[in-house]
Amino acid sequence: MRLLPILLFLIVAVALLLPLLRRIRLPAPTARRTFPDELVKDPVCQTYVVKSRAVRRADAGRVRYFCSEQCARLDTGG
Ligand SMILES: [Zn+2]
Repeated sequence: MRLLPILLFLIVAVALLLPLLRRIRLPAPTARRTFPDELVKDPVCQTYVVKSRAVRRADAGRVRYFCSEQCARLDTGG
């Protein structure tokens, strides 16, 4: 088989070139979210927190958001 060294060379060449090709193909399109995260108010300490990072508590049919587990525990429910 004379093809084997050629195949091996091709595999090595592709393995070396792939990272370069990837770097060219991905010019880091800074995928910024155009819409910012919603802010919610912590009813305990009156702090505004980003909804996606807030501690969520659902009781009595409504959801409340807290800045931390500590505040969620301090919440009296009213
Ligand atoms: Zn809080």
